[in-house]
Amino acid sequence: MDVKNTAKEIHINGLVQGVGFRPFIYRLAHEYSLKGCVENNNLGVKVIAEGEESAIDQFISDIPNKAPMASSIESIKSKEIYIHNFDAFTITKSKSVSDEITEVSPDISVCQDCLNDMKNQERRIDYPFTNCTNCGPRFTIIKDLPYDRNKTTMKVFEMCPECKKEYSTILDRRFHAQPVACEICGPAYKMYIEGKEITNIHSIVDLCAKLLETGKIIAIKGLGGYHLACNAFNEDSIQQLRVRKNREGKPFAIMFSDVESASEYLCMNKEEKYLLTGWRKPVTLLKVKKEIAPSISIQLDTVGTMLPYMPFHYMLFEKLNIPAIVLTSGNISDEPIVINDAEALLKLQPISDAIVTYNREIHNRTDDSVAMVINETPRLIRRSRSYAPSPIRLDIHTEGIFAAGAELVNCFCIGKGKQAIISQHIGDLKNLETLDFYTESIDRFKRLFRFKPQLAVCDMHPDYLSTRFARELNIPLVETQHHHAHIASCMAENKLDENVIGISFDGTGYGIDGHVWGGEFFTCDLNDFERASHFEYIPQPGGDLVTKQPWRMMLSYMHHYYGTDVVNQYPSLFNGIPLKELEMVIAMIEKGINCPLTSSTGRLFDAVSALLGICRTASYHAEPPMRLESIAKDTTDYYPFNSGKEIGFKPVFEGILKDINKGEDVGLISGKFHNTMVQVIIDTVQKISQQTAIKKVALSGGSFQNRILLKKTEDSLKDANFAVFSQSLIPSNDGGIALGQLAIAAKRREMGLI
Ligand code: ZN
Ligand code: ZN
Ligand code: FE
Repeated sequence: MDVKNTAKEIHINGLVQGVGFRPFIYRLAHEYSLKGCVENNNLGVKVIAEGEESAIDQFISDIPNKAPMASSIESIKSKEIYIHNFDAFTITKSKSVSDEITEVSPDISVCQDCLNDMKNQERRIDYPFTNCTNCGPRFTIIKDLPYDRNKTTMKVFEMCPECKKEYSTILDRRFHAQPVACEICGPAYKMYIEGKEITNIHSIVDLCAKLLETGKIIAIKGLGGYHLACNAFNEDSIQQLRVRKNREGKPFAIMFSDVESASEYLCMNKEEKYLLTGWRKPVTLLKVKKEIAPSISIQLDTVGTMLPYMPFHYMLFEKLNIPAIVLTSGNISDEPIVINDAEALLKLQPISDAIVTYNREIHNRTDDSVAMVINETPRLIRRSRSYAPSPIRLDIHTEGIFAAGAELVNCFCIGKGKQAIISQHIGDLKNLETLDFYTESIDRFKRLFRFKPQLAVCDMHPDYLSTRFARELNIPLVETQHHHAHIASCMAENKLDENVIGISFDGTGYGIDGHVWGGEFFTCDLNDFERASHFEYIPQPGGDLVTKQPWRMMLSYMHHYYGTDVVNQYPSLFNGIPLKELEMVIAMIEKGINCPLTSSTGRLFDAVSALLGICRTASYHAEPPMRLESIAKDTTDYYPFNSGKEIGFKPVFEGILKDINKGEDVGLISGKFHNTMVQVIIDTVQKISQQTAIKKVALSGGSFQNRILLKKTEDSLKDANFAVFSQSLIPSNDGGIALGQLAIAAKRREMGLI
């Protein structure tokens, strides 16, 4: 029979490097008896395939279906070329280190094949460091590039002959899997309890399960840092954990054994299930169906849930008689998550009943990522494990730009080619240890990604520690307005480079007039913005203190609308707050002492949350709006407001007070208040659009993490024929600021303004 031989050149673009893609192509080509080669290039992977035409076509159509789970293919293009008559299929090595594409894969949760190996493969039965080309640690263990075992924290473990064979056999699933290991040669777990050390993995897992079931707290070394674990169904031990960790109210994340048991307790739709079970395994915020324990997520209607992602998690749940455990960051209050074993003994030993550790070092600290689904779209709240440091592809040159990020929920960002590489979640830079983590991570990114900063960009807030850091680099510096950076982040993620109406709602940001902004309507592009409209200015008595004492904002709004005598007029509203403090705050407002003016959305939500008696003092960031959202009931009603250049809320407060007097349900009042915010947006956007003819709207800022606000805003704007853009893979909170800063600086450089 006559077979037609042909040759094709195939270009696969997307996230296809550092995820075992070339060995995968090699194995697939082998299956179809093809000859040729595969190599990395600037855009992705290039393949030359020679053989039977039908086999090549089959091969091409198999690529997207069988690709490694951590890869993400954007496009596959192929064209016929002359036959070169290759005599085999080979993987072409990258020519030199500088040619090497500097893409670092994020960590990947353990794959099903490896879990099967842990049941069947002699050297890996119950071996908790089983991994392969398709799964396992990556970013957390990488010290330098090119990605090679001796540049990772696996360097100290010399491969046994069997592992070495797997590592060097192209057709093996562990070909060039840098962290490859087995019980003969790889890392091992160890448990410290009551002065004893346990090294047998079965004893560790058994004891761990028993301790958790009986209410004990255990520190367990995870992939990117230590966790603190306890029984998710034992209210006493969760409360104990709160005391020991010095964490009063902030919700804890939990881990369920599997998706079936999770869905018994939590509601999940198709998209939420997809997010929860995908290879990244983020903490996913899900609505509670059946109560687990009240102290996990106090006064909130959601619980942050994840599924097992390390072999040890699976082994633990096999022994546990409970379907879920609390698994929260191993740290004290706001410090970075502990990664160092000596530090774990020092800091976590006193607050846990046992420590489970292992002897593979964590090099790059990464917290669990946190996400939720709004309008069928995943929304990252914290972008860290299994997401960072995957690049974001932009349409603009970013090479050499360093973006310092914000201060409270910091991530920084570096520009490579046309990409933005955003760091893992760093945290609050005002914490000294976190600031060290920030500077250390910047140094590591410079080395890892061969990055030489030529241009820095930071927030215009003079006191942000990230701003100070950027200034001290002594390279050209761009300063950006906080809310413009939020919108630019949304625009960059959505590849927008034109005029848009930008709505930035958040807690705080330095405005160009020196006031605190946060309820902002802009007309803007990547380069610049104009403030089209904003929330009215209200004094913020005590500055940052109001975020801990939201009743101060309630008093400030009430004083603004009803004057000095407000406490006498509405005594019942201020029940429980000492008169002395009320008088002191009123004096502060009237004398203008430590009372910056704010147009912040967060502060308005604080005031309403306090007014409804839901949250008058807060124990964690954004507690008042989160609890206000949690109790909101569905309604179509809303309160009137004063629209204009300055949007005023006196009618809103009047309406709420009237409803409170009527004895209206607070859930309904909250629902009406949320709808009012949506109405404010629609009304203002329509006015701006009439004047400017702009029909594209970009939404960003931490307040858009409010599910009701984002969902209803997107729906209503779409109904009014606007094209709406919001954030998905980049957080709309300050974790996304660095990307926006980078995009603004890149645009200004492209325009020749720098
Ligand atoms: Zn695997
Ligand atoms: Zn081995
Ligand atoms: Fe912000």
